[in-house]
Amino acid sequence: SAAIDWAHVRADFPLLTRHVHGKPLIYFDSANTGQKPESVIQAVDDFYRHHNANVSRAVHALGTEATDAYEAARNKLAKFLNVRGDELVLCSGTTFALNLVAYSWALPRLQPGDAIVLTRMEHHANIVPWQLVAQRTGAIIKVAELNERGELDLAHLYSLLTPEVKLLSLTHVSNVLGTVNPVREICREARKRGIVTAIDGSQAAPHRALDVAAIGCDFYAITGHKMSGPTGTGALWARREHLADMPPFIGGGEMIKEVRFEGTVFNDPPHKFEAGTPNIAGFIGLGAAVDYLSALGMHNVEAREQELLAHLNEALSQVDGLRIFGQAREKAAVVSFLVEGAHAHDLATLLDLEGVAIRSGHHCAHPLMQHFGVPATCRASLAFYNTHDEIDAFVAALHKVRKLLG
Ligand code: PMP
Repeated sequence: SAAIDWAHVRADFPLLTRHVHGKPLIYFDSANTGQKPESVIQAVDDFYRHHNANVSRAVHALGTEATDAYEAARNKLAKFLNVRGDELVLCSGTTFALNLVAYSWALPRLQPGDAIVLTRMEHHANIVPWQLVAQRTGAIIKVAELNERGELDLAHLYSLLTPEVKLLSLTHVSNVLGTVNPVREICREARKRGIVTAIDGSQAAPHRALDVAAIGCDFYAITGHKMSGPTGTGALWARREHLADMPPFIGGGEMIKEVRFEGTVFNDPPHKFEAGTPNIAGFIGLGAAVDYLSALGMHNVEAREQELLAHLNEALSQVDGLRIFGQAREKAAVVSFLVEGAHAHDLATLLDLEGVAIRSGHHCAHPLMQHFGVPATCRASLAFYNTHDEIDAFVAALHKVRKLLG
């Protein structure tokens, strides 16, 4: 990453010049949502200012421009993930994407006696849809546990992959622990046993060079707002044979070829799964975000964030009374922690007064909190636009807050 001027990169993000409570903002909550570069903000602005029209319906010039820009965004995202554009369903985010797999793929297929395997570190978005499907089909859910480092216990996971298991759904990167799961190896083991795999890529796509085709999964879900794009954008990649076999989950305009009251002929995938007017401006913004990240190079982004993580770990090791959750050998720039005797929310509130934005709470991962026996943690999550100085200021603020609370 030596060739990149990261201070220059940071200057592309207008929000990062803000102050809060009279202090320069230190934004360490990128796992929650990422900040947006000027080019993304401009792409959204430019669409509404100069091209705004609905997609696919109008033959007039603006309609064509809007449709072309929307489809161009799909193709940019497909290229970024190394998949085909016609296998990429655009939707509002990972939550929708995983529900699409649950309702269109799993619900019609699962039966009493079937099983779904999840892991202890899943976000609620990769738990609740499967519980809803399990309730309606009579399938059961089995959970792969973690080792003391907060990594998946692979031997335990593989021991769960018995013949009644139809689906394994797991996160690529934990939003709480930062643990990077060996999804390629895991998908290979599942595939050997005829088990379909879904990967929650929410926390992987913003931070790693992805080759979804090489992972060997059946479904891969992403959310745009964590990868420098607008909120309300995301995608589900699925193998073509699955998309062809899946009934639509949501019905309406845009997803049909012909509608009669006797019955409807659906459009081809991916459009079959994209009923109604989509977040057109949002996806054009996401296309700009993908251009931005691609220009940086995801290998450079990853190397930069690993450098920041090493600094953060080193600085935190000097803080007494700190409990850190998860010490995975392969880890994204996310650190969950608690200070002895302090409540997570008190800590986050005091840090906010110092200008530091971190998240405190359960991080939509109740089962993981139960595993650690805590109701909440604090989480500092970094992105390539953060700086070494911010890490030092954050740790200084942490020392100060510890004294206040101590
Ligand atoms: N899975 C993981 C691992 C996440 O971190 C998140 C966002 N916190 C989601 C799923 C849900 O993403 P969204 O709310 O954008 O649909």
